[in-house]
Amino acid sequence: MIVSNGTRASSYSMDEVSVMTTGQVYEALQTTEGGLSATEARIRLGAYGRNVIEERRRTPAALLLLKGFTHLMALLLWAAGAVAFVAGLTELGVAVWLVNVINGVFSFWQEYRAGKAAEALKDMLPQHVNVMRDGERVRILAQDVVPGDVLILEEGDSICADARLVAASDLQVNQSTLNGESTPARKRADAVDVGGLTAAEIPDLVYAGTSVAQGHGRAVAVCTGMTTRFGRIARLTQSVEDKPSPLQVELNHLTRQITVFAACIGTAFLLLDILFVHNPLAQAFLFALGMMVAFIPEGLLPTVTLSLAMAVQRMAKRNALVKRLSSVESLGCTSVICTDKTGTLTRNEMTVEALWTARREYRVTGLGYAPRGAVEAEGRVWTARDDAVLRDLVGAAALCTNAHLHAPSGEERDGSAAVREHHDASADGRWQVYGDPTEACLLVACGKAGLDPDALADVMPRMFELPFDSRRKRMSVVNAMPDGTLRLNVKGAPNEVVALATHVATDAGDVPMTAALRERIMAANDAYADRGLRVLAVARRTLDADEARAVSSGVPDAGDASAPLSAERMERGLTLLGLEAMVDPPRPEVARAVEQCHTAGIRIIMITGDYGRTAVAIARRIGIVGAGDVRVVSGPELSTMGDAELTEALRGDVVFARMAPEQKLRVVTCLQRMGQIVATTGDGVNDAPALKKADVGVAMGMAGTDVAKEAADIILADDNFASIVAAIEEGRAVYANIRRFLLYILNSNVPEAVPSAVYLFSGGMVPLPLTTMQILTIDLGTDMLPALGLGTEPPEDGVMDQPPRDPRERLLDRPTLVKAFLWYGLLGTVASLAGYFLVNVLHGWPHVPLAGMTDDADPVYVAATTMTLASIVFAQIGAVWNCRTSRSSALRAGLFSNRTITVGIVAEIALLVLITEVPALQGVFHTAPLEFADYCYLACIPFAVLGIEELRKLVCRVHARRAAR
Ligand code: ATP
Repeated sequence: MIVSNGTRASSYSMDEVSVMTTGQVYEALQTTEGGLSATEARIRLGAYGRNVIEERRRTPAALLLLKGFTHLMALLLWAAGAVAFVAGLTELGVAVWLVNVINGVFSFWQEYRAGKAAEALKDMLPQHVNVMRDGERVRILAQDVVPGDVLILEEGDSICADARLVAASDLQVNQSTLNGESTPARKRADAVDVGGLTAAEIPDLVYAGTSVAQGHGRAVAVCTGMTTRFGRIARLTQSVEDKPSPLQVELNHLTRQITVFAACIGTAFLLLDILFVHNPLAQAFLFALGMMVAFIPEGLLPTVTLSLAMAVQRMAKRNALVKRLSSVESLGCTSVICTDKTGTLTRNEMTVEALWTARREYRVTGLGYAPRGAVEAEGRVWTARDDAVLRDLVGAAALCTNAHLHAPSGEERDGSAAVREHHDASADGRWQVYGDPTEACLLVACGKAGLDPDALADVMPRMFELPFDSRRKRMSVVNAMPDGTLRLNVKGAPNEVVALATHVATDAGDVPMTAALRERIMAANDAYADRGLRVLAVARRTLDADEARAVSSGVPDAGDASAPLSAERMERGLTLLGLEAMVDPPRPEVARAVEQCHTAGIRIIMITGDYGRTAVAIARRIGIVGAGDVRVVSGPELSTMGDAELTEALRGDVVFARMAPEQKLRVVTCLQRMGQIVATTGDGVNDAPALKKADVGVAMGMAGTDVAKEAADIILADDNFASIVAAIEEGRAVYANIRRFLLYILNSNVPEAVPSAVYLFSGGMVPLPLTTMQILTIDLGTDMLPALGLGTEPPEDGVMDQPPRDPRERLLDRPTLVKAFLWYGLLGTVASLAGYFLVNVLHGWPHVPLAGMTDDADPVYVAATTMTLASIVFAQIGAVWNCRTSRSSALRAGLFSNRTITVGIVAEIALLVLITEVPALQGVFHTAPLEFADYCYLACIPFAVLGIEELRKLVCRVHARRAAR
């Protein structure tokens, strides 16, 4: 081991540190209980390197490039070009191959950009860990952890280094990544004899890549980065997956279908040409080839990849970080959001507003985490000094917390996006909370009652803890009292705590719990809950001699129900001290987001661990449920319900309360069985199965555990429900964009194919208005450039006024086909044929029949085909504007607001000018220079195409509005 004086101390193996005492571990790793100093950590970082696992190598760029040239469509084009060369049509062969090369390079570039976007996303999801440095708890990037760092491990944390435990409280670690075992292993801090144990079985060692399933502890990092077990076996968890999404799979399928269709069209045109026009085989082939290429949707796949990547970037800007690309499409189909309440719908900024004891009810003044305010009742201020029950209530609650408050004068130690550390954003703004806000507000209430929580903790040190668990819904600690006795202090959900209470504290001492008293307590609880307050009950019990001995001798196994210090044996015979009711206001933006969900046909179901009445009050306030009857299904009730009954409950207004996290899974499964596409939120370890099962698992970035984040598809950077709705909007936009792209590229096929059909069926009497080279030019120039921009369109106005998309709906559905071929295609055909005939009207008719385009072709014919080409290009400008919106006005969106489209349009016009004006290119593309009158006509086309479609959209909007009335 290298230490700051430059000497290399001996390195220890994990087996060696496991047999050491805690003191020896600190000594061996040259560290202390307070962790390393910042300077020492920096030196060690230089010596040992970053704590990262080397990345699996991405697909090499050359291979990615090759992929673009070897898929079915590309192979077909290579073959077609080769046949053109063999037939002596060199220019055509070159053109076809050029299309293929450009398409391949273009695909590569788009995929490369999408890959870069995915990498950037990964950087947005850094893992943070809590460690001790310079005697203080700080939050650092996991990659900065070095051997000797003291890691603070809490429920749901990912463990980022191989480490030796120095403290553990009911600690259980999920080691499935190491040994495939799904049952968490119990861990302890005592030295052990490792003889015969496998690495995962050694109880005082924890390993990188595993996670804390329950409890908490501290551990000294021994190995980091590639020297960890995880690093050595090179197992790697990548935060962004790049497997193809169902949409990409469907598109692959669609491209293959269209390619086969294009080949059939080409063959049909070949046969028709031979039969009707009696052209020689070579010429007929050339003609058929043009048709086939026209129908092949080059650029489709890369555009889809790019639109997904762009959507992911836009979502990140709106605080939804996407881990799996496929979830973007599922978001677009989401029909139900199952959400928890605390922190997602509410701000998770708690203030105790009322206290209740058997003697009286108190009002607590002051908002936020600043200890400014007082406890008032019966027209006067009460403090712990003049009210013993009040003192016991606030004191026991404060002792039973793990949160810390930092006064405004304290310097911020880590300004980075804190996870699981909440900052007070209330009026005073500067008091900071480290830990659970539910617990922090109890410290504040204690201060307002005139008791200093820190001083209390010094006089009554903690001996033992049964950590909070959302199944038990309580937390207990044992404190040593100044008189030498040990006292158990419990706080938790009122139903759960009151059920365990045998006595109630009063001014006159503890009295037995009676049915009447229980009723009074629960009535007080209900009254607070109806005001939307979150209520905790607080209780205590003095331990008997046996229990005190067990605590003092440190019998650690709290997780075993039969162990002397198990929750089952400790949390009994309690004396209820009272209730603390806290306000947790709804987030201001949530009501609007809920309303948006309702107009978008998305149901919201609240699934919370909190009490039913509190849940309903909040659900009403933000509009999740109406003023009518709401069914409340509690956790215990759900466990007795059959699937049919649950299905029935899910059809009406329902709120799930007092739920254990694992019960979420059942609700999600039932909704999915009902055909719903479900997005669900979660933050704890036990939420992971529901997050995995849901179509879109959404984890909380701030309050969420690493385990929940690992299981989720999307992470909310701000824990805010409104961000889910924003992500759904983007998800819907992606699908719409891909449809727009398809609509756009398919519609130009009609003006390309119809003139050829006219030529065929007239037996060559009407000369071919568009040559094969020109068709290829359109595919190359117009279909590719502005189309790209359609993939980057932001969500259209009104996208959230539609019901969710049916997941079975095909991408290329009938309305899209009809719109592409019979409407946009028709407009383009009229514009292009009009351009063609305009030349004939102005300059006379060419000699027919023609033997195709030859070097000595009639100049009028060359000018006319050039106009057909130019007219299609300009009609496509109108089409790309039209495709930007499906219902709303494209003018309102701003014709030039999408820069990629505008650049594409400028580029395609430049391309057209080049091939019509540069003499060398005129020969290749069989074009003639355009005249001023031609340009005047061309300039009108996009606006005419746009105007006609705007009129249609207007009629549709008016009709829809009338129908809605
Ligand atoms: P949601 O599920 O909407 O996030 P929640 O925070 O109420 O809401 P849980 O964290 O499962 O859900 O908590 C369940 C119940 O346990 C709470 O309603 C509260 O009564 C109690 N509780 C919450 N935090 C603590 C704590 N730190 N100590 C003791 N009891 C707690």
